[in-house]
Amino acid sequence: MRSTSRRAYALLALILAFFAGVIILVISLFDKGGIWTAKRVNAHLYSGGQIVNAGAVYTADGEILAQSQDGKRLYSKDKNLRLSTLHTLGDASGFISSGTHSLYREELFGYSFINGIYTLKEHGKGNDIYLTLNSKACKIAYGALNGRKGAVGVYNYKTGEILCAVSNPTFDLNNKPKNMRMEKGEAHEGVYLNRLFSGLYTPGSVFKTVTAACAIENMPALDSWRYECKGQLQTGLGLVKCPSKHGKMNFEQAFNKSCNCAFAELAIEMGTEMLEGQAKSLAFGQALKIDKTTSAKSILNLQTANDLDLGWAACGQYTVLANPAHMMVLMGAIANGGSAARPYFVEKIVTPNKILTYKAIHATEDSIELEADKAGKLADFLRSNVVNGYGNSSFPNLNMCGKTGTAEVEDGKPHAWFTGFSQRDDLPLAIVVVVENGGSAFYNAVPVANRVMQALS
Ligand SMILES: [Zn+2]
Repeated sequence: MRSTSRRAYALLALILAFFAGVIILVISLFDKGGIWTAKRVNAHLYSGGQIVNAGAVYTADGEILAQSQDGKRLYSKDKNLRLSTLHTLGDASGFISSGTHSLYREELFGYSFINGIYTLKEHGKGNDIYLTLNSKACKIAYGALNGRKGAVGVYNYKTGEILCAVSNPTFDLNNKPKNMRMEKGEAHEGVYLNRLFSGLYTPGSVFKTVTAACAIENMPALDSWRYECKGQLQTGLGLVKCPSKHGKMNFEQAFNKSCNCAFAELAIEMGTEMLEGQAKSLAFGQALKIDKTTSAKSILNLQTANDLDLGWAACGQYTVLANPAHMMVLMGAIANGGSAARPYFVEKIVTPNKILTYKAIHATEDSIELEADKAGKLADFLRSNVVNGYGNSSFPNLNMCGKTGTAEVEDGKPHAWFTGFSQRDDLPLAIVVVVENGGSAFYNAVPVANRVMQALS
């Protein structure tokens, strides 16, 4: 009896081990199956390391960015569309990691757990992907950058659709340069990086919107606050300077004139903890979700900052870094009463027999915490910047709100920034423009923003 039951137990243990193995295999297949199938060694999908039988990729206005025909991957016939959408589409070899070709490789191949590469076997091609991009806005943004490095992003702050996502330098998928010069300072520096999603720049005065949010919350007498700018502010360890003497101002006028001394004075009065806390609640230090990728984390670290450092940090200098897509979403949150839509660029995925397998969900970007009344006040101040600072004629018929930044950097001319949004009901769009080493923001970022917004209005 004893040996029989021992054998029974041993058999039972074997059976259990077998089923455990099967379960692990099934879980692994669910988890990794798509990735295994999409590996470049699979000859059905790749030829010479390139996607050849994948589905097509469309813009929101019906342009075909990429499609596969006769075993070849073909791109738009419009060169400027190829150049301006490269980073959102991605290259077929997967060097651009945040592009559709890399992030949605399994979907483009039509991978299914049940049937393996089922749509490919059945139809000879994968699923089609429809992006939210507007081809005209992308081309105009690319043209407005006029060869300068930088990024332009526009998105609908009510729905989250990204209409324009341009990163320069770029290259032509139909004519990829053989020897791209990608070292620092060269023509193709960081060419595989999507600067909108993954770039980090000194923000300069666009950061004053964060300092303004902090002042609205922590300075109860802000409405009656007055300051006289004498062109420089003496702190214990050195000077915060303005380009000129701005004279006597209230807070709104200090924001309109982008007075460094006034913002440094306010920040020193509030202290490092308050400014850091405000930045954190506006998603500094957090990666924002964008489809299957995330933005780079904007950085404000005042751990070792003295008053001089804090004064400059309040003006977006010191060691502050900002991601352009994050700044765009922050503008969206201010525009939309404190809650911004989460940005995305893939609208839907459709199989060859027209079955919808994915549809974008409109979600709220919850990493930004902004109360409605504070958002309203910030929107009024940003509107005042355009009316009383840059001039409505800089943005004809757009009801634009915004803030420029001319961010001083160690190497070369300042980065030129514009962050803003339209208050027109029929144009719920937020925009970010960064022109690397572009010089004055008013002359170099504002015109880019206006041209792109006009194209969409
Ligand atoms: Zn000043």
